[in-house]
Amino acid sequence: MYRFFLIAVLLIVLYYLIRRAIRKIGQDGALEKPKDGRLSGNQMVQDPVCRVFVPRENAVKENIGGQTYFFCSRGCAAAFEKQLSG
Ligand SMILES: [Zn+2]
Repeated sequence: MYRFFLIAVLLIVLYYLIRRAIRKIGQDGALEKPKDGRLSGNQMVQDPVCRVFVPRENAVKENIGGQTYFFCSRGCAAAFEKQLSG
């Protein structure tokens, strides 16, 4: 009967350890959420050449004539500069 009590205590301790581990994994998952929120709050910018919307962080940034423009690619930035000069 004493042995059974020991096994029961061990099982309870094990149960708490597993629950704590699961909770820790859940907290790690929650820590990822603000990152996603920041991504969804990422500003979209429009390419003036092909009219495509691109996330500001991924856009090609070009300073032309003192003004900043955002493009989907280097090719569009070059085409825009050619358009302005030509
Ligand atoms: Zn483009």
